[in-house]
Amino acid sequence: MVYETHGPEETADLARSLAEQCLPGEVYCLDGDLGVGKTLFSQGFAKGLGITEPVSSPTFTIIQIYEEGRLPLYHFDVYRIGDVSEMDEIGYEEYFFGEGVCLVEWAQLVEEIIPDNARHVLIEKDVSRGVDYRRITIT
Ligand code: ADP
Ligand code: MG
Repeated sequence: MVYETHGPEETADLARSLAEQCLPGEVYCLDGDLGVGKTLFSQGFAKGLGITEPVSSPTFTIIQIYEEGRLPLYHFDVYRIGDVSEMDEIGYEEYFFGEGVCLVEWAQLVEEIIPDNARHVLIEKDVSRGVDYRRITIT
């Protein structure tokens, strides 16, 4: 499925509607370059789960847990991970195969542990279409 957005609000709205339909145990891999909108997508997704506390990139902790929504949200940002074994150390399996929903920013860096049935959200810019344009491919 390919979506096109023309500003942050549209990307947040798309993420919010996905979150409203998401099921326990789903893993969403968020891929795309720095500044493309992965965290913004996560913020919209959190809203769709009914989370009201602010969501930011958990860069220094790898994972941030939000429990106030319809389902627990496990928000990973693995950008600064040195080795995939750091995921074992934080016990990622409990989250990936748990009763909540996982969002994994920079999932391509830990490709080998991503479950086969994970959903992939690739966000891309196309400067010829303007600075706020994003193509969002969900598979
Ligand atoms: P990432 O987490 O991928 O590094 P962020 O979500 O932190 O990126 O930042 C994305 C930036 O791009 C935000 O400042 C946001 O306002 C801006 N932006 C502009 N247009 C869009 C769009 N269509 N979708 C998402 N973000 C957009
Ligand atoms: Mg980010």
